[in-house]
Amino acid sequence: MNRDQAIEALESFEGYWDIIVIGGGATGLGVGVDAASRGYRTLLLEQHDFAKGTSSRSTKLVHGGVRYLRQGNISLVLEALHERGLLIRNAPHLVSNQAFIVPNYEWWDGPFYGAGMKVYDMLAGKLGLGPSRHLSKQETLKRIPTLEPAKLRGGVVYHDGQFDDARLAVNLAQTMTDCGGIPVNYMKVTGFSKVGEMIDGVFATDMETGKSHGIHARVVVNATGVFTDQVLQMENPGATPMIAASQGVHLVLDKSFLPGESAIMVPQTADGRVLFVVPWHGRAVVGTTDTPVSRISLEPRPLAEEIAFILAHAALYLSKDPTPGDIKSVFAGLRPLVNTGKEHNTAAISRDHYLVVSESGLVTITGGKWTTYRKMAEDTVNQAMLVAGLDERECVTKKLRIHGWLKHFDSTDPLHYYGSDAIHLKKMIRTDPGLGEKLHPDLPYLRAEVTWAVQKEMARTVEDFLARRSRALVLDARAAMAMAPEVAGIMARDLGYDDAWKTRQINAFVKLAENYLAASPAAGASLP
Ligand SMILES: Cc1cc2nc3c(=O)[nH]c(=O)nc-3n(C[C@H](O)[C@H](O)[C@H](O)COP(=O)(O)OP(=O)(O)OC[C@H]3O[C@@H](n4cnc5c(N)ncnc54)[C@H](O)[C@@H]3O)c2cc1C
Repeated sequence: MNRDQAIEALESFEGYWDIIVIGGGATGLGVGVDAASRGYRTLLLEQHDFAKGTSSRSTKLVHGGVRYLRQGNISLVLEALHERGLLIRNAPHLVSNQAFIVPNYEWWDGPFYGAGMKVYDMLAGKLGLGPSRHLSKQETLKRIPTLEPAKLRGGVVYHDGQFDDARLAVNLAQTMTDCGGIPVNYMKVTGFSKVGEMIDGVFATDMETGKSHGIHARVVVNATGVFTDQVLQMENPGATPMIAASQGVHLVLDKSFLPGESAIMVPQTADGRVLFVVPWHGRAVVGTTDTPVSRISLEPRPLAEEIAFILAHAALYLSKDPTPGDIKSVFAGLRPLVNTGKEHNTAAISRDHYLVVSESGLVTITGGKWTTYRKMAEDTVNQAMLVAGLDERECVTKKLRIHGWLKHFDSTDPLHYYGSDAIHLKKMIRTDPGLGEKLHPDLPYLRAEVTWAVQKEMARTVEDFLARRSRALVLDARAAMAMAPEVAGIMARDLGYDDAWKTRQINAFVKLAENYLAASPAAGASLP
């Protein structure tokens, strides 16, 4: 489905939707898929693009969370490990088994982390991805030749999942459509309609045309991540704020900093944080930080201190020290942590999810993590069903294959992450070989992918394609800028726009992409 078809479906629908979901990140899309797959008439409204917010800015891990194990939050780890197993089964084209190595520099690291990882293996049970084990110094360096060898004693290898967050979001929107639901991007909810004190729908504005819509529903779900409080206060200006946002920054480096297939996991840096260096789409992703922030934005800016922190700590564990000039891209995301009032340090706030029903019947779901989006959605729809008095239907997502599901594929094929859709892209290229040309010599993306994104994945802007349908912006911001004119040209042709649209799109994208360059003024030019 493309966006025009979604708008048509929205406008031609008469009466009450069973469920309206506000927010098209991991949480909202999960709820949309769950509700639509139970057969409820489901509409999802996203103010910008799917996964524009936090959901495209994660560390890309489908994990139980070794850190939460250390914090003693066993139930959270158990639930996340279970969900990890389900997700790898339901979206094998996007989630893979990733080996992580904890390097041991102190004599007690080996026994301590070795034992901890055995507990992690045990909690994963039948859905485990492979046993953890000790590695000698030689084995550790063979797997990660760029690890700092001085004082290295060995390592502990364990397994977790890795994925492409924005691609999974796009595939969830498609899964929702496959199940009969309607997800719409660029449609902002601006208010609620009520019968007496109870919500019976939303007002929404089409961000492309400015057209207003009043849409009725039996129940409305607020799944807006760090915007949760804004939506709660739209309904009740006196609502108590519940979000404590925390910013996390990642740097993307060349593959030479992490050759091979294994990732590095440092459970505790000198100041008590976790550091990951993870291979991803032919690059190394390094992060992250945990900085409390009060300004909520869809495009948060990395701070100079955060970039400096990551570079300095990565240098402690890598034999080749990364410098600002090595950064291909830097991106920031905001964690929607729920402030229970007990903790002031965001790193210590629980990553559990919270489900609240307002007196007006608004169902709010927030917190949690990408890994647990399916369980969050199941809990939310179970609750929404009761609030709306819908006939009770069982959740079916534990075994629901996500759009593109494909088990066996060649991971060196540049189109492999489309899963079962790759054959359609290949057919397009056979019909028009020009579509098989690369958009940039340093990145694998092909011209056909732009047309596919417009026709089948609801891409509307150059940014939608370069940041989330492909991952060019986060893999190499400069290459993405260079690709913008050609992408704008293909999109303008496919969407029927003129040269003025093309120019506006290119300018807007280049301005945005400058924030992904570590040396941009926004990211703090005063790096040490
Ligand atoms: C740095 C970092 C690293 C992380 N790493 C991992 C990881 O490796 N693994 C993991 O499992 N989890 C990870 N997480 C957590 C995970 O990314 C988040 O829990 C998840 O993405 C939150 O999704 P969400 O849908 O709740 O929020 P969002 O993705 O922010 O979605 C909310 C959406 O609501 C929309 N919205 C807001 N207001 C309105 C409105 N009025 N009308 C319509 N739409 C509206 C917004 O535009 C936005 O798209 C990480 C988070 C961060 C910040």
